[in-house]
Amino acid sequence: MDQRTGAWTPSEENRQLGLTVLEAVKSSGRLYRDGLGMIASENIVSPFVQDIVASDLHGRYAEGLPGKRYYQGCDDFDTIESLGITLAKEVFNAPFANIQSTSGTVSNIGALKALAKPGDRITAVSTADGGHISHARMGAVGLRDLALTTYPWDEARMEPDIDAACAMIREVKPKVALFGQSVFLFPTPLKEMADAAKEVGAAVMYDGAHVLGLIAGGQFQDPLREGADVMTGSSHKTFPGPQGGFLLSSSEDEAYQKRLNTAMFPGVCSSYHLHHVAGKVMALAEFKEYGEAYARDTVANAQAFAQALAAEGFDVLAEGRGYTASHQVLTRHGALDSGAGAKAAHRLEQAGIITNMNMLPGDTKAMQPSGLRLGVQELTRVGFDTDLMKDVAKLYARVLLHDEDPASVKADVRALKNEHHVIRYCFNEEGRSGYPVA
Ligand SMILES: *Cc1c(COP(=O)(O)O)cnc(C)c1O
Repeated sequence: MDQRTGAWTPSEENRQLGLTVLEAVKSSGRLYRDGLGMIASENIVSPFVQDIVASDLHGRYAEGLPGKRYYQGCDDFDTIESLGITLAKEVFNAPFANIQSTSGTVSNIGALKALAKPGDRITAVSTADGGHISHARMGAVGLRDLALTTYPWDEARMEPDIDAACAMIREVKPKVALFGQSVFLFPTPLKEMADAAKEVGAAVMYDGAHVLGLIAGGQFQDPLREGADVMTGSSHKTFPGPQGGFLLSSSEDEAYQKRLNTAMFPGVCSSYHLHHVAGKVMALAEFKEYGEAYARDTVANAQAFAQALAAEGFDVLAEGRGYTASHQVLTRHGALDSGAGAKAAHRLEQAGIITNMNMLPGDTKAMQPSGLRLGVQELTRVGFDTDLMKDVAKLYARVLLHDEDPASVKADVRALKNEHHVIRYCFNEEGRSGYPVA
């Protein structure tokens, strides 16, 4: 290195490594810019959030809570986090909010730390019925060493069998009754099951990772007023912020709130990704203005998409309940355990449509499922409306039902998407793209 100018001359080999990373990052950006991102857990962030997550805050530290820090230099961040706590309480209508969690899974680990002790029993939705890995022994539930009992499931309604689940809760007397799923078409009928849980002294926890934006927008259900003591969630699925999590509670009790705060720090976080926290706060401010409309349009698009897919000839699940009340749609592409969902997802990818295979009720092999789980929350954010959802369903039919070469469909996918890059439902007077990578 030239000590005066600070100029480095890297070896060509190592420079190439750096360029490989940069190029793959850009290429991933182009894939989503030119394609249809329809993975139900993903979203894109507003221009202001884009700026914030690329800011100096990415490398800074804060531990503790606003005004109670272990490091200097946190005054500006105190302003941000204090505002964020206030906004989160308002947006989620919650007496308590902690906005530090670095993901939905971390929120769950923190909540389970606060609500249960190793060896306690928990009830939850099984992963086969759509529960998340963090509700399973292989994930956070096992990490906390909790004994798991899963709810009896009503396959036709795609929700817990209420009477059988209430009986089960009364029998096994869990410490925590956990509700919510990753495959989440309809609101959980929470009230009765929460009452049963309270009868046996269980804490009621609702994992709203997928549907948090729909809940905050008033379009799904209201768990904190239907019996949930604690609600966790991701900040980047239907809530359209940067990756991260929230920990919310209906409790006004200060000791209880303190237990939740200390479960996050020092429980499961040291520093907690300040650029993402600041991005969440911006997303909360934007949600206050546009969230209700975004949630309403998202659900309307999912219902329109499900109907259009069915009209094209696809087997869409839950027809009897109107297909969906969330941002998700489930489709079946062949026999159980046939891997037909995996094949469909690959073929769609060749056409520039990004989805994920998913187990449907009755599937037993996670890598050979029969279905797809589709989400419309990202397309909604760049202006797709219910009419355009019909066009999207036609693209699916060309690839999967009419055996057209995916490469030829890809050109039409790109043409459609290129008219929809401007990100909506946020402070974006300049009309910036939701896909900033050139
Ligand atoms: C996605 C999801 C999570 C995990 O969220 P991350 O932010 O990916 O850690 C937790 N619970 C449920 C039900 C989910 O679907």
